[in-house]
Amino acid sequence: MCVSVCVSRLMCLACTERPAGEASWGRLELAAVILVPSSLLCVGIMLGVCTAHGQRCIYSKARKCDAEEPLEDQTLMSPDKRLKDLIFDMSTSGSGSGLPLLVQRTIARTIVLQEIIGKGRFGEVWRGRWRGEDVAVKIFSSRDERSWFREAEIYQTIMLRHENILGFIAADNKDNGSWTQLWLVSEYHEHGSLFDYLNRYSVSVDGMVVMALSIASGLAHLHMEIIGTQGKPAIAHRDLKSKNILVKKNATAVIADLGLAVKHESITNTIDIPANYRVGTKRYMAPEILDDTLNMNSFESFKRADIYSLGLVFWELAQRCSVRGTCEDYQLPYYDMVPSDPSVDDMRKVICDQKLRPNIPNQWQSCEALRVMGKIMRECWYAAPAARLTALRVKKTVSQVTVIKDVKD
Ligand code: ADP
Ligand code: MG
Repeated sequence: MCVSVCVSRLMCLACTERPAGEASWGRLELAAVILVPSSLLCVGIMLGVCTAHGQRCIYSKARKCDAEEPLEDQTLMSPDKRLKDLIFDMSTSGSGSGLPLLVQRTIARTIVLQEIIGKGRFGEVWRGRWRGEDVAVKIFSSRDERSWFREAEIYQTIMLRHENILGFIAADNKDNGSWTQLWLVSEYHEHGSLFDYLNRYSVSVDGMVVMALSIASGLAHLHMEIIGTQGKPAIAHRDLKSKNILVKKNATAVIADLGLAVKHESITNTIDIPANYRVGTKRYMAPEILDDTLNMNSFESFKRADIYSLGLVFWELAQRCSVRGTCEDYQLPYYDMVPSDPSVDDMRKVICDQKLRPNIPNQWQSCEALRVMGKIMRECWYAAPAARLTALRVKKTVSQVTVIKDVKD
């Protein structure tokens, strides 16, 4: 504005005809009128250029740091800190939802990848090393950014940590200049998935009970809402299967792959994401998902669908339970009823129309633990979702099997 006023003034000065009554301009005034606006113009231009340059500097610094320099954090200064200690320190002092983001980033950027250990829906899972410890790194492609973000978000739910839920360590998005690498770092379990484990080994009766109890405990914790500041929302998994359960060194299990999970906010009675229609693995889908009658308005529906899948996982486990030296070979549920990559239609015909379920062998009746496991399975597989057991009930029933066994021993 100031500049345009001055310019019009100058134009007036240039005119030979002056408005009547206006005083004539001295040399000093003339110089001031010309110099002040032009220097203001210069300052303005310089400021503009500098700001743009400054923004570029900050941006390129971020890129540089993104690509090369992990940010060091006080927490990681002590080189003998093991991951378990770090996570313990953080979860007891912090919000209970995991390591601070800067620490996560620093850990992720100092991991050295070793070998591929799995492939799933989203890219690859690697074994990596961090300060002499093994970790698992799930690498998402950049087009699956939403899945990476979602899984990281679920794992960082307040108070989710549990001995039977995969221990989350870090999430990191690293821009290497041409593409973005999305990492999810977790505890590494050398036995791999329950699917791999059961293909390789049979389990003793005790082993089956301990494994079943750990899976039920993990699911009960996931499903449970804990109210209060140190509470957690209820979470439904929505893709429970033997490939999404990992086996620990001590032959107990952790529930993994929380990418499709949904959380329930009980105060508003809402589910945190639009619970998209029919997700999960077809073979493990509950009848109400297959025939599209699942009640989306009730969170209980999602938990009940998980319970159906839990029954199938128990069946896979019990099949491999060795009694008097014999057991079945590993088989997927419904291996004898549907093709190898079944469609929803294939599954619906068997599960909803013919109402078939995996076979529960008669021999299971002669072993108390297997008899109880068989009964639990049936009560997880009811066509009516409301009739199924809850995860907490399954956990209690399995834990009583241990008690019966202990008493007998
Ligand atoms: P996706 O979402 O792609 O299915 P998962 O998280 O289910 O990925 O992992 C795929 C496979 O990678 C698993 O079935 C398992 O064999 C292996 N895996 C994943 N996480 C770990 C881990 N923490 N330790 C050992 N193996 C793992
Ligand atoms: Mg998976």
